[in-house]
Amino acid sequence: MHSRFLTGSTISDQSGRQSGRIISIGECMVELAPRADGTYTMGFAGDTLNTAWYLRRALPAAWSVDYMTCIGTDAVSDRMLAFLGDAGIGTTHIARLPDRTVGLYLIELAHAERSFLYWRGQSAARLLARDPARLAQALTGADVAYLSGITLAILEDDRPTLLTSLTELRARGGMVVFDPNLRSRLWPNATIMCDAIMQAATQADIALPSHEDEAAAFGDASPEATARRYQQAGVPLVVVKNGPGSIITLANGTLAHHDVAPVQTVVDTTAAGDSFNAGFLAAHLTGNPLTQSVAAGAAIAARVISSHGALIAQH
Ligand code: ADP
Repeated sequence: MHSRFLTGSTISDQSGRQSGRIISIGECMVELAPRADGTYTMGFAGDTLNTAWYLRRALPAAWSVDYMTCIGTDAVSDRMLAFLGDAGIGTTHIARLPDRTVGLYLIELAHAERSFLYWRGQSAARLLARDPARLAQALTGADVAYLSGITLAILEDDRPTLLTSLTELRARGGMVVFDPNLRSRLWPNATIMCDAIMQAATQADIALPSHEDEAAAFGDASPEATARRYQQAGVPLVVVKNGPGSIITLANGTLAHHDVAPVQTVVDTTAAGDSFNAGFLAAHLTGNPLTQSVAAGAAIAARVISSHGALIAQH
């Protein structure tokens, strides 16, 4: 395994790499999106899956992008697996559980406002870290693991198992990338959420928080305060997204502001952060400087928010 990018507590070598393996860990759900005629279109989405999907498009072919989760053995799970495979995402580490199925969300449109209804409480993905041997096998040979606060939230009892496997990956020279993606309704309470997020941050080489969410949960007064909190938890590179506001990077003590080009017509901000993460990471992992990597992330996000839906094919 090579680790020629960010590793441990320093940026060891920024030369980047043209090949490698990244594994995204989390939950992919069935999406039911309304059509004008009152019927629904079925798709597949979920924060870590969205990022894997955009990573597959943004990274060179010599990088493999895998997804790790659990799904059922039913026909809808079959379709999800086929969808991921067709997108070029590796599915070897997707386990099939006979007594569970995939989660689902439905997009409700009321007066052009979108809201989301979820059925995910018993989803197969909640068991993705139940088997430590399977987890270890999935992470063996991975150069980068990507996960989010939603990955942690759905795990219930298995968060320590996942964190241990990330620690082991880092000990082998691998890198952990973490988007806290705070969703308070997925957690029992704010204290448990904040503790779990900051504990996971201690295992992250890169953190990609969104200031608005962080301010609501942690009371950060500014994006800079968000960046410093993750730096103090030991994260060597923090990239703070802030909607149309400047993106803040804090890399080994150096703080920088990166302006975001305005988007004329914002149509749907679903997956803005997920797609930003993919564009940023693809550029960063292949050796681009921070400024260019942030610009690459913002460019993908700008296209994504200019169209309806999480997964926009024109990339
Ligand atoms: P999240 O979706 O995680 O809440 P943000 O809303 O902060 O993340 O957005 C992520 C990225 O998407 C931003 O850093 C920016 O690049 C882009 N973005 C989001 N909203 C806008 C906007 N109104 N105009 C331009 N870019 C935007």
